Amino acid sequence: MTQRRATRIIRVGDVQIGGNATISVQSMTKTDTRDIQSTVKQIKQLEEVGCDIIRCAVPNQEAAIALRDIKKQIKIPLIADIHFHYHLALEAIKSGVDGLILNPGNIRDSEQVKQIVRSAKERELPIRIGVNFGSLPPVGGIGKSRGYSRVSDMVNSLPKGLASRKEEYTVVDHMVATALWEMDLLESLDFDLIKISLKAFDVPTTILAYQRLSKMVPYPIHLGITEAGTAMAGSIRSAIGLGYLLYQGIGDTIRVSLSADPREEVIAGHEILKSLNLRQRGPTLIACPSCGRADVDVIKLSNSVDKLLKKMDKNIKVAVMGCEVNGPGEAKDADVGIAAGAGRAIIFVKGKKTRIVPENEMLTALMEVVEQF
Ligand code: SF4
Repeated sequence: MTQRRATRIIRVGDVQIGGNATISVQSMTKTDTRDIQSTVKQIKQLEEVGCDIIRCAVPNQEAAIALRDIKKQIKIPLIADIHFHYHLALEAIKSGVDGLILNPGNIRDSEQVKQIVRSAKERELPIRIGVNFGSLPPVGGIGKSRGYSRVSDMVNSLPKGLASRKEEYTVVDHMVATALWEMDLLESLDFDLIKISLKAFDVPTTILAYQRLSKMVPYPIHLGITEAGTAMAGSIRSAIGLGYLLYQGIGDTIRVSLSADPREEVIAGHEILKSLNLRQRGPTLIACPSCGRADVDVIKLSNSVDKLLKKMDKNIKVAVMGCEVNGPGEAKDADVGIAAGAGRAIIFVKGKKTRIVPENEMLTALMEVVEQF
């Protein structure tokens, strides 16, 4: 794996981002931000599964004001997600948020951006420059607030990722140029609490954009594949895109965007980091897929173990294996493992056989050992 890219360090509340800091896992609430009770409830659920930073949509003034009460009731840092209206950013800052995300595609008036930056600077609040394929500025219209409309934006006709010829202006060029426009603006006000994201649904486009930008700027990078899809497809898409970049040492915070309960996003985010040994949070389950050799219902057993492990935050590797082929080997390599066979199962702890239990006691016995570990 490539060495992690060196970046400046910023802080979002008490979470450090960039440098050698742990890669943080973010999510976004899916409630109406004005509904303080539901939003706080969702954030608390996300805190439980290991969300490090939460973002709330701020579509209107009431939402910006609600952030004040939300902030008081949660533990993790709160970021205000701002689009279109710069005054919502100013209101969110007054509400005491820990950071902002600005979209250079829909707040394109440099004077408005400057007002936000001055206010953020006073309170030392970081700003994420959030470039998103779905809301890029019109081609030729970066930083221009007049004379362009979404109808004639021409973004959709730009060649994507790998499809482009060398001399063509591509979506990747446009995404990077959009981020650099806002970055220059922020730097012109001597503001450097910057984080940048460049999200697209198309994975090669996203990868190319992040690779390009990461060589050009010293700031930490937030990774995401936007509108990735439902839990299964979106997690795979995100794992490919984010995993590839993380493996190359790019990325300081991540979000897996899913059309699902936001807890799934956080769990998927941690699984991606765990897969690359970049971060260990909570148990890791090694489970065999089962096949014609299995003597017990491994799928049922694995799912039951998975459900129980999700409630724990112990860093432990647990293996559930269906037969004697790979079972003992994997089970031995884990902290705690079970290798089933012929109506009974062997439980291993750190590679040593500790118990032999009948099939109907496998789950209880394994979980007892996990609890004690
Ligand atoms: S461990 Fe055994 S049961 Fe599980 S997939 Fe491998 S061969 Fe099949």
